[in-house]
Amino acid sequence: MFRKILVANRGEIALRVICACKDLGIKTVAVYSEADRNSLHVRFADEAICIGPAKSTRSYLDIPSVISAAEIANVDAIHPGYGFLSENANFAEVCEECGIKFIGPRPDVTRLMGLKQRAIEAMKAAGIPTVPGSDGIVRTPEEAAAVAERIGYPVLVKASAGGGGRGMRVVECAEELPHLLAQAQQEAEAAFSNSDVYVEKFIRAPRHIEFQVLADEFGDVRILGERECSIQRRHQKLVEEAPSPAVSPGLRRDISEKLARALSDVGYSNAGTVEFLMDDSGQLYFIEVNARIQVEHPVTELVTGVDLVRSQILIAYGEPLSRILPAEIPIRGHAIECRINAEHPEKFTPSPGRITGLNLPGGIGIRVDTAAYTDGVIPPYYDSLVAKLIAYGDTREEATARMRRALEMFVVEGIYTSIPLHQRILAHPDFVSGKLDTHFLSRLDAVPATA
Ligand code: ADP
Repeated sequence: MFRKILVANRGEIALRVICACKDLGIKTVAVYSEADRNSLHVRFADEAICIGPAKSTRSYLDIPSVISAAEIANVDAIHPGYGFLSENANFAEVCEECGIKFIGPRPDVTRLMGLKQRAIEAMKAAGIPTVPGSDGIVRTPEEAAAVAERIGYPVLVKASAGGGGRGMRVVECAEELPHLLAQAQQEAEAAFSNSDVYVEKFIRAPRHIEFQVLADEFGDVRILGERECSIQRRHQKLVEEAPSPAVSPGLRRDISEKLARALSDVGYSNAGTVEFLMDDSGQLYFIEVNARIQVEHPVTELVTGVDLVRSQILIAYGEPLSRILPAEIPIRGHAIECRINAEHPEKFTPSPGRITGLNLPGGIGIRVDTAAYTDGVIPPYYDSLVAKLIAYGDTREEATARMRRALEMFVVEGIYTSIPLHQRILAHPDFVSGKLDTHFLSRLDAVPATA
């Protein structure tokens, strides 16, 4: 087994990886920015190395600094977590050149998946339904207009190298197309140094449903069910659950079989997520592959009993899936995750600062993934995630009841958090009945803030 792994991340996911390493008897090396000197990942790793100032471009995103730390500490492998360098194929290549195992897919596969239009083509070839749209990149307003006429308005212009909802524009009619196309291209160029955009049918009020993948380095691919992540704000997920109330066992089997074949064909390895939208007729459309572990992976862990991060490490070490996973992985029970962010629950403004008081909930069916502690600071430089609160139950109703109980007993003082927002979400009749779509939040106003 690996002797020592460097964790190229911070916050709860760095701790999550450290936990998996401790379970496997692997030593860990934390890296940290000056703003994270007093963070728990620094405290609980076996070694810790400061890699630069608070700004992530000069620390967590700085490839030479991370690689120097890995060489000084003499590690065998690097786990990138999510965000930061996790989907940076150049970084994975540099690791390879330095003889350090990158815990993730091969760089050429990550690169392919990062160009969404190329990923769409690969999925289409495997018989996986994709959103009707342009065949490849669209450059001129005339080309875009021709596609939009064919598939019908509204359409969505999307950045091929996109992420985090950037470089995306909804176009309702032909008159709007030229300037929104130009805007999307400019935004894509500014954000990703790649102005390529494509056009697809805009699906009104879709569900967001994604499938969890584990693949070994010998072509064996397993799909571990799906997650529903429809409750979003500005394309950022707030609540995720597994399984999806909208996916039948037949649909799950059908998509899983097709995905396993498609991903095996492209040489996919390690963990990944394949994202789909579902329209109101229940049809799924592929949108993109995330070549990394996701924030919301715990809900899958709870309903499958599989430790996904441990699996990532074993796969990277060269273990075949047949030695990592049981032959059958039934989906058992139901799990829900609420992302507790440091932000005002109604104004959504960021609320970094010192946590002056903290009570983490517990009890049966509750898991909390967090790096927060009393007197700890949520710095303003990174994402605003304070904790992931995950509830498990035999049924969706039981998981919901446990989540409500845990939200009530979750106390964070000194900063605002999204806990009250989550309480309102869980009280909404549409949440209770599983009637979810990406516009769910706009319907929340019907429920008073005190509910
Ligand atoms: P990013 O990589 O920027 O997150 P995605 O392709 O994953 O981009 O899309 C992010 C979100 O945007 C989805 O979860 C969904 O809410 C919305 N979206 C994407 N494509 C469409 C579409 N064709 N129709 C409607 N909404 C879409």
